Amino acid sequence: MHNRGYFSEFGGAYVPEILSATFDELEAAFDAAKADPAFWQEYVDIMSTYSCRATPLTFAENLTAHFGGAKIYIKREDLNHTGAHKANNVMGQGLLVKRMGKKRVIAETGAGQHGVATATMAAKFGFECTIYMGEVDVERQRPNVFWMERLGATVVPVKDGSRTLKDAINEAFRDWVSNMDTTHYVLGTACGPAPFPEMVSWFQSIIGKEAREQILKREGRLPDRVYACVGGGSNAMGLFSGFLDDKEVELIGVEAGGKGIETGQHAARLSSNDASIGVAQGYKTYFLQNEDGQMKETHSISAGLDYVGVSPILAHLQAIGRARFEAATDDEVIEALSLTMRKEGLIPALESSHAFAQAFKEAPKMGKDEIIIINQSGRGDKDIFTVADAFDDPAWKEFIKYKAEQYNA
Ligand SMILES: *Cc1c(COP(=O)(O)O)cnc(C)c1O
Repeated sequence: MHNRGYFSEFGGAYVPEILSATFDELEAAFDAAKADPAFWQEYVDIMSTYSCRATPLTFAENLTAHFGGAKIYIKREDLNHTGAHKANNVMGQGLLVKRMGKKRVIAETGAGQHGVATATMAAKFGFECTIYMGEVDVERQRPNVFWMERLGATVVPVKDGSRTLKDAINEAFRDWVSNMDTTHYVLGTACGPAPFPEMVSWFQSIIGKEAREQILKREGRLPDRVYACVGGGSNAMGLFSGFLDDKEVELIGVEAGGKGIETGQHAARLSSNDASIGVAQGYKTYFLQNEDGQMKETHSISAGLDYVGVSPILAHLQAIGRARFEAATDDEVIEALSLTMRKEGLIPALESSHAFAQAFKEAPKMGKDEIIIINQSGRGDKDIFTVADAFDDPAWKEFIKYKAEQYNA
């Protein structure tokens, strides 16, 4: 058992004995990479030629005027390759895999976004790639499965249990145990056993580093508050990392309030009293679980925030009073997305729209001389099916029917 990787009482690495050498190897590779400035430079180089780094910091002048309070800036992670901050993590881990001399990567995915990002990375670096996905998710997320397969990945539908994300996680770990000499498991967020939370946060810290420099250049001072949505916590850790030592900057994480905290249909781990501390999936954090440690059903309009655990580092930041956590409901999120589209011509992902929703509650009450940054973790194109449903768009339904009829003809 590793002692490293605890943040307050959270984190750790609760992994089977058989994987212990593999975790030691990963930890050593990560430590060496972190201590080597040339590695970070290689990472920045590839992200600026293969993705879109540095991503811009956009001044949202129309939203700022609309609310009449704080100046609103938006960090544009939506402009990354594959449409979200997930590219930062997978490309970083890809470079690490090259350093370790492994030739195969595996990952698990729920909505499929992390699977697509991992498959692009594997294609670029010439790795063999297997993606585990619950059978139910394979059916629900056909467009992403289509892209993963076209990118050369093998997508394995997992038929155990509820046939969703947690079953895919178990299957991915089983694969890793059998193939650890050749294979790296590309974990998708700042969760899981150490060193993943720290490592994923380190790759994502590029967001906060850039944002800090950009706001200083533009405004000559630091922001008062920064907002990020929280699924597993990687984009939030990325943005927060840039400001952790700046005590005057308030860090706000926004979770999925779903249909409302009182309904129980949400994924609010840190911002509700419905979660409790436990050990699962190899680490210790707040989980939405019952008294017997059985995971509860979570709900969110955005698949990327629909998760039972949360980054141990975020749980720690809450425990020490450094970060504040709030929840935004599905309805508030659709409203925030609508307003952002109309006022700024931006289409944030439903996940990101949670951060916008909370910022919109607070910005009007802040002074005109105050500054906030919202992390637009991804673009909303992928959400067209969900958003069209939320708007109950009649022409869209006709289009879907038309497509279905074409195939039946
Ligand atoms: C996956 C995803 C998230 C949630 O993941 P975190 O690890 O919490 O950042 C948020 N936004 C977008 C656009 C995503 O694709």
